[in-house]
Amino acid sequence: MRKISIFGATGSIGQNTIDLIRRAPEAYDVVALTGGANVARLAADAVSLRADVAVTAFEDRLPDLRAALDGSGVEAAAGQAALVEAAARPADWIMSAIVGAAGLAPGLEALKHGTTLALANKESLVCAGRLLLETARNHGARLLPVDSEHSAVFQGLVGEDIEAVERIVITASGGAFRDWPLQDLPKASLAQASSHPNWDMGQRITIDSASMFNKALEVIETREYFGVRPEQIEVLVHPESLVHALVGFNDGALMAHLGAADMRHAIGYALHWPARQTLPVERLDLARIGQLNFRAPDPARYPALRQAYEVMERGGLMGAAFNAAKEQALDEFIAGRIRFTDMAAVTAAVLDRIEAERDLIDAAMTLDNVTRVDHVARQQAARAAEERIG
Ligand code: NAD
Ligand code: MG
Repeated sequence: MRKISIFGATGSIGQNTIDLIRRAPEAYDVVALTGGANVARLAADAVSLRADVAVTAFEDRLPDLRAALDGSGVEAAAGQAALVEAAARPADWIMSAIVGAAGLAPGLEALKHGTTLALANKESLVCAGRLLLETARNHGARLLPVDSEHSAVFQGLVGEDIEAVERIVITASGGAFRDWPLQDLPKASLAQASSHPNWDMGQRITIDSASMFNKALEVIETREYFGVRPEQIEVLVHPESLVHALVGFNDGALMAHLGAADMRHAIGYALHWPARQTLPVERLDLARIGQLNFRAPDPARYPALRQAYEVMERGGLMGAAFNAAKEQALDEFIAGRIRFTDMAAVTAAVLDRIEAERDLIDAAMTLDNVTRVDHVARQQAARAAEERIG
């Protein structure tokens, strides 16, 4: 039996992971499940999967979690320290599917214990890619990509030499507003931004898909994970979301990865890697689909994309600043305080203003320094958001 834990078990990726686990319960010994406010879901899954411990990120939810687990034999815990402690528990494989920079500390802890980390939490790579990769290397741990594009590239590179790679193309659906007139974007509502044309995902990543902040993070994730140069990474709008990524080689070959828009493929690939196993995803009928469309992303519609390249160019801890500013801007949009198009204005303002803290950006990449940059960038973003309102 493989010992596994799922961080962010109550979310979209977490629930898809649990779906795969439930299909072969005899193969897995579940150590820890973690979640947030939805302690009922967390407790129900922890009990049915016979987890050792269930952890909610929020301390004020502990009494409810305890009550829900009463008599089940599953331990209850809460808070940041408990999440990190759960990540230190011996496991063969951990799914990192917390949303946001909050996933970094538990992910790092898991790697320190040599655990294989299946990484859906792209934010941690954007904030501290080098730190994660070095920690993995130093402790003989492995990071496996779960983001669909990065899983696709990873699969495209099996048996290949990264030196022969000329370019990596990641696709984007274009999000909820890809066909909207540009002048209507400032009026986009929260409900409209929260519905994705192809993928069923958590609310935050769905809005980030409409704004392309998700793809901006993924460009940086590509650079960190595969070690290619920024100019080798391209984004292609592909409304069908069936080609997830393409790898271009020095002999002109372009290897594409196709599959249904179902995260259980990328999760399952990371779960069974290096083997392949049968997965419950739709098999594509290309004759029925008939045609696939591609177009270049419009920079006026998606200002976040250019910012990703600016972040990579500026280097240091700029990724942590960018991610934090994006998270704060998204909070402000969700709370109804700023407009959809203000989010990219807020992150642009932070990228400018954080220059004043250049020593902070140039500091060594440690968890403490990343946390410090994250904090400063959120404050700057909140201020920039206030100026947009005022
Ligand atoms: P989600 O919002 O559905 O779930 C997030 C999970 O994180 C929940 O379990 C929640 O309780 C937990 N959480 C929230 N705030 C937390 C905090 N402060 N501390 C600890 N835990 C917290 O999100 P999701 O769509 O499942 O996405 C999870 C991660 O996977 C994100 O990094 C996202 O970018 C990435 N991802 C998701 C998809 C997808 O299809 N959903 C695809 C690719 C990558
Ligand atoms: Mg993706």
